[in-house]
Amino acid sequence: MVEKASTLLMFGATGDLARRMLLPSLYGLDSDGLLPADLRIIGTARTELGDEAFRERADAALKEHLPQGFYSEGIAKRFLGRLHYVPLDIKDQSGFDRLAKRIGDPCHGVAIFLSTAPSLFKPTIDGLAGAGLACPTVRMALEKPLGSDLESSREINDSVAGAFPEDRTFRIDHYLGKETVQNLLALRFANSMFEPLWNATHIDHVQITVAETIGLEGRGDYYDQAGALRDMVQNHMLQLLALVAMEPPADFNSTAVRDEKVKVLHALRAITSADVEANSVTGQYLRGAIDGEPVPGYAEEVGHESTTETFVALKAHIDNWRWKGVPFYLRTGKRMPMRDTEIFIQFRDVPYSIFASRGATTKPNKLIIGVQPEETISLHLMAKTPGLDRQGVRLREIPLDIGLANAFSEYRRRIAYERLLLDLIEGDPTLFVRRDEVEAQWGWIDRIRAAWTEKGLTPRPYAAGTWGPSAAIALTERDGISWHE
Ligand code: NAP
Repeated sequence: MVEKASTLLMFGATGDLARRMLLPSLYGLDSDGLLPADLRIIGTARTELGDEAFRERADAALKEHLPQGFYSEGIAKRFLGRLHYVPLDIKDQSGFDRLAKRIGDPCHGVAIFLSTAPSLFKPTIDGLAGAGLACPTVRMALEKPLGSDLESSREINDSVAGAFPEDRTFRIDHYLGKETVQNLLALRFANSMFEPLWNATHIDHVQITVAETIGLEGRGDYYDQAGALRDMVQNHMLQLLALVAMEPPADFNSTAVRDEKVKVLHALRAITSADVEANSVTGQYLRGAIDGEPVPGYAEEVGHESTTETFVALKAHIDNWRWKGVPFYLRTGKRMPMRDTEIFIQFRDVPYSIFASRGATTKPNKLIIGVQPEETISLHLMAKTPGLDRQGVRLREIPLDIGLANAFSEYRRRIAYERLLLDLIEGDPTLFVRRDEVEAQWGWIDRIRAAWTEKGLTPRPYAAGTWGPSAAIALTERDGISWHE
């Protein structure tokens, strides 16, 4: 049986992710009584702090980042009492030895969360191993980015595997912690009505959009090296695609679910230099306006001219029986007109319309799964417009809308990291990404980047506050399809 952690060791405990997401998530779990009673949380980073000073910082982070009205003095007191801090420079072994002393018996109930730059993963693992902190029961969670291409991803995975076998390596893709993303599995596999239609015979195409209104938000150094394809498509969007396209797993367990996802990732058709211009569009934002507010262009924000893409649109194909001939259009960008993550599934039109002779036209059914900011499921159906039909039958598309926040109003909406941190503490890897998935994702992405280089393609400009370059519209319009907006 997997042992629950009694020590959570958090590297990068003074960083942005810890302050905005990890500490508030752990507080949320504590407030619901979900953390093991004896769980202590040990933060580490280089900044010299004692336990009390770390607790004060954590308290300030909770006050700043918890949803309004959620902070309670009593719960905060209990939660902050769990926190400890060991200052440590990952590049200096002596810090790990002090950490090991503080932890005591590391072979029982230790879970580790690495929230530091990936360049520090290998020295961290070496330091942990050197201090006897990589015992056979310790679990390790890693934040993205897991490499910048297949080769660097393999290097990271190899160095992790040297101390932590795959079943104790928890690779985070925080999209998998989102309720609506998990709900995709419930929608597909807890209802009988969708699965018979979930294939090329009945689905015309799929669109996945991840649109952000924000620009660089202080992450310019990282982002300028990464770009939209590696920052968003390689991980989050390919995970969404895999969940939409996978075969029904035999069970809701970590092996069965991840086995099915990886098959989809392996079946993605490579985009090569022969077809990259037809199947991809990149863009970079110029100055413009979002919600009426002027915003600078990318080059201005990053401080130099750059060829990094802040927008990418792709037409992907999954070469298997279920999805033969069904395009999957993926689109993500910064400085879009609205923040919106959604999966849009368009079914095929009725094979023959009995209403055509009465002047009415039908539209194909659509299923729209809103991931953020609103968590929604919307099924668009054709209905008859009320009336006596003297001038012919009139049909109209109407949505069957489910707002998940309303349908489950008695439940608190959780930060995605709450689920992932609890699964790490309890040792359930189902919602973490396996090595073969990450590497299949990188393999597909690397081919696209190589094709861009081979063809000398550079991003096209688009004004901030628009849906990307006009070529992105042409990408779908060539197939007679419009982006759902
Ligand atoms: P950050 O704000 O720069 O924090 C980095 C943390 O690492 C700090 O606590 C820093 O503390 C510590 N650190 C740096 N060098 C160290 C060293 N030599 N030894 C020990 N500790 C060291 O970064 P972040 O935004 O929290 O992101 C952390 C990781 O998560 C990154 O890989 C990032 O790409 C990823 N990520 C972040 C977000 C996000 O929303 N922020 C989202 C997804 C993924 P000291 O300076 O005190 O040492």
